[in-house]
Amino acid sequence: MNQKNRILIVGGVAGGASCAARARRLCESCEIVMFDRGPFVSFANCGLPYHVGDVIEDEEKLLVAKPDLFRERFNIEVHTESEVTAIHRDAREIEVCDLRSGRTRRERYDALVLSPGARAVRPPLPGIDLPGIYVVRTIPDTRRIREALAGASRAVVIGGGFIGLEMAENLMRRGLGVTLVELEPQVMPTLDPEMAAYLADHLVDKGVALRLGSGVEGFEARDGGLRVRVSSGEPIDADLVILAIGVRPEVALAEQAGLELGEAGGIRVDDQMRTSDPRIFAVGDVIEVRDIVTGAVRPLALAGPANRQGRIAAASIHRALGSEPACAQREGIRFRGVQGTAVCGVFDLTVATTGASERALQRAGIAYERVYLHPGNHVGYYPGASPIHMKLLFAPHDGRILGVQAVGEAGVARRVDVIAMALQMGGTVFDLEECELCYAPQYGAAKDPVNLAGMIAANHLRGDLPLADWNALAGADVQIVDVRMPEDFEREHIPGACNLPLEELRGRLDEIDKDRPVWLVCAVGQRAYYANRALLQRGYDVRILSGGMQTYTTFAR
Ligand SMILES: Cc1cc2nc3c(=O)[nH]c(=O)nc-3n(C[C@H](O)[C@H](O)[C@H](O)COP(=O)(O)OP(=O)(O)OC[C@H]3O[C@@H](n4cnc5c(N)ncnc54)[C@H](O)[C@@H]3O)c2cc1C
Repeated sequence: MNQKNRILIVGGVAGGASCAARARRLCESCEIVMFDRGPFVSFANCGLPYHVGDVIEDEEKLLVAKPDLFRERFNIEVHTESEVTAIHRDAREIEVCDLRSGRTRRERYDALVLSPGARAVRPPLPGIDLPGIYVVRTIPDTRRIREALAGASRAVVIGGGFIGLEMAENLMRRGLGVTLVELEPQVMPTLDPEMAAYLADHLVDKGVALRLGSGVEGFEARDGGLRVRVSSGEPIDADLVILAIGVRPEVALAEQAGLELGEAGGIRVDDQMRTSDPRIFAVGDVIEVRDIVTGAVRPLALAGPANRQGRIAAASIHRALGSEPACAQREGIRFRGVQGTAVCGVFDLTVATTGASERALQRAGIAYERVYLHPGNHVGYYPGASPIHMKLLFAPHDGRILGVQAVGEAGVARRVDVIAMALQMGGTVFDLEECELCYAPQYGAAKDPVNLAGMIAANHLRGDLPLADWNALAGADVQIVDVRMPEDFEREHIPGACNLPLEELRGRLDEIDKDRPVWLVCAVGQRAYYANRALLQRGYDVRILSGGMQTYTTFAR
């Protein structure tokens, strides 16, 4: 008798569920079975912080697809509360423990997909297992946190990454006083510090108490709550603690099965999501992926890559099993690598990034240049414009885009998304300069922030707009000329700067020493650019401080 090809999938959320659904779309005849140790599959873990904050009131809304839907619509069998405890590669079988009955059984596979995700880091600190300390990974986690909110008034969030920030906001939304503790001297460590400063200011404005550069040393039970001991300053008392200090790939099964792991601790896969065993595929938070900018290989816990990898694994499996008709277009399906495109809401701000940060480029030994700009999300004459603070990193020799970080109230994700696509396609700042984007007054500007970022960087590379390095400002033997109006200069200026408003510059050139370098600054860079053109053409050695005083304030703190 001809047995059907059996595809078994461990983990039924982002990577696993998308793999299962795609595998069915590609092949009607195979058997697809998905196992999850939790009570739910295909739930929106990205929505969990907002369920805690009651933005998503109804827990049901987090269930994107239930087992019945998988069965009825896709003919996919789903076993929840079923933990896969071992892989027997020789027999091509897995061992599954039904967590309700405690019984264990074996299941045969022709192809096995591992999408078990990652587990929250819980450092072995004194008191770490005390009641009241929560992680946010699953729906049962949010149930526990929501229950703990009754009667609670103070929370400590440990970890200033995107989950920590989302939890801080949502706990405030529920009326709690929140202290955020972060080991690094900044929030959102994937950003460069001067960009993260916008978020820190905003968090403080919103009432979050920040303890940056502060390590947690332990927990004690105190007056029905918890006392959190930190390396800097007074201990913090709280009714509940959220632990959001990162995740590690869930590799126990892979290790038991002897699959190859990478140096960063995730499962090693090729660009078709094959592990070191050609019958076993792995996707999502559990694997290591190559960063297309730095070449570094590491796990990356983001939903988009997990979903795309699930689709790719499905195509690879059918290719391997010969269970779908040959298709030239599918032959070319390969995972392209990651670039870390991410977005996060922090109260009224949005922060988004793609590609490498300066820190990542330095670690990888990649040369770069940077520009700062602060354009409006749309034209100023249309009501409601607000600035987007942007930093673009690019290669000095050819202008290839290396990364962007942006923070603002509106229009942030759209700009970063455009640049993300350009980066993936190997685009340059010259491409950004020329890209044709949507424009009407309420949405953007005829020169969109993306164009402006490209223009500034391209002008710099062409020598039309030489940039000075903010890091070189302290102690630089240069004349700093501030071309803003006197009242702006009086409010705040760089120590040692002289004030020559742009409007008076041409008549007061004798006040600038032509034999010394001139560094120009204004509010955000535009007037300094005009002044720079006027001075360059008169033979001055001139540069501008990119992003102007707006950027200075983030460096000066
Ligand atoms: C609170 C939160 C917010 C997030 N927000 C965002 C966001 O806004 N944007 C974004 O891009 N990403 C976000 N992420 C990350 C994103 O959700 C993950 O990158 C993505 O879900 C990874 O998919 P995965 O399939 O690898 O793992 P998961 O989606 O975590 O699924 C793994 C599943 O495998 C099950 N499992 C593990 N081991 C076994 C076993 N041995 N047997 C059976 N089942 C097992 C687990 O129970 C789990 O259900 C967020 C994550 C969290 C926790």
